[in-house]
Amino acid sequence: MERSERAVKNLKHFTIFVLSLATFSLAWSGHEAYTYLVVRSLPIDVDKLVQITPYTYKETRIYNEKHYYKDDFAGKRKFFDDLGDGVFPPDPEPVDGKLPVWQILTIYAQFPDFGMDEELNLSPLQALIGNSQGVRHMRYKLGPIEAFEGDRSFVHFVNMSREAFKKGDEYWGYRFLSYAIHYLEDLFQPYHNSPGTFWEVLSGLFDKKVMRMLNNAHYTYDNYLLFLVYYSKHAEDVREIIRQTQPRFVSGDPEKLIYEVMMYGYYKFPEVHREVRRAFSGILETRVPSMDDFKKLEGEGKLDKLLKITLDIVQTMTAVLKGFLITEISRIGQTIQQN
Ligand SMILES: [Zn+2]
Repeated sequence: MERSERAVKNLKHFTIFVLSLATFSLAWSGHEAYTYLVVRSLPIDVDKLVQITPYTYKETRIYNEKHYYKDDFAGKRKFFDDLGDGVFPPDPEPVDGKLPVWQILTIYAQFPDFGMDEELNLSPLQALIGNSQGVRHMRYKLGPIEAFEGDRSFVHFVNMSREAFKKGDEYWGYRFLSYAIHYLEDLFQPYHNSPGTFWEVLSGLFDKKVMRMLNNAHYTYDNYLLFLVYYSKHAEDVREIIRQTQPRFVSGDPEKLIYEVMMYGYYKFPEVHREVRRAFSGILETRVPSMDDFKKLEGEGKLDKLLKITLDIVQTMTAVLKGFLITEISRIGQTIQQN
């Protein structure tokens, strides 16, 4: 078979699989809470006030314009995960049309999950999967097959942020940077890099039960980070770990950086998936565990190993995100000085 024919055949098999995924879970939950902890612990003045400005950009990508909001939403808790406690993180009203840097970076970190990437026509693959949000938020690698563009979403918003800062538009510079943070965090979630083991995916093609279990496993791990930050008996320790983690500088080139992140998520997948399946067996077959299920299992000591594996990922993600933000924000200083 010719290379191109083989590629098409692979793609067909893959899209059949993707098509049979009933729903997509699209992100870690609680980006805003996690991002707040990261941003507030940067060795940078994030209390600096920035004037809110109108959107004046031409982007090279399309969005679901109905949900690609351009107003400012400070003080409204609009893009906050409803699994959170409704109190944390803070979201005060703007004062004299100005917001602190930490708030812009925090409140828009969950924004890309609120419909801007939904119901679009993005690629031939898109025609088969039915919903475009997964295309923009994930980057699957399954054996030789690679699909989706979560990596490009990240690079796009880093570039938009740099363009805004170059124009001296700090508000949009930080706001686009917050969108970029979302995709970087998404690609640290191993289920955004792989849907299941090769054999599960294969049997999922013929067995809806396997498919449901894989979907539920993905949702479960999305929600586990939120559980850890809000409701776990270790929540304060987890928050402190995030605050204390030192930055790690990977690369100033967004493409290189996101490639490293994808590879890390992909490499972590088998370990996470094995433990999620073990810890939540008996639940995943039918549903996604509730916050109470998490609490109960934690109380029984059944999440100890998952906690250890996840803290390792959270520390790596936090170190890389801090390094990335320090690098980008120090570039801003240089851009502004040059102008
Ligand atoms: Zn997402």
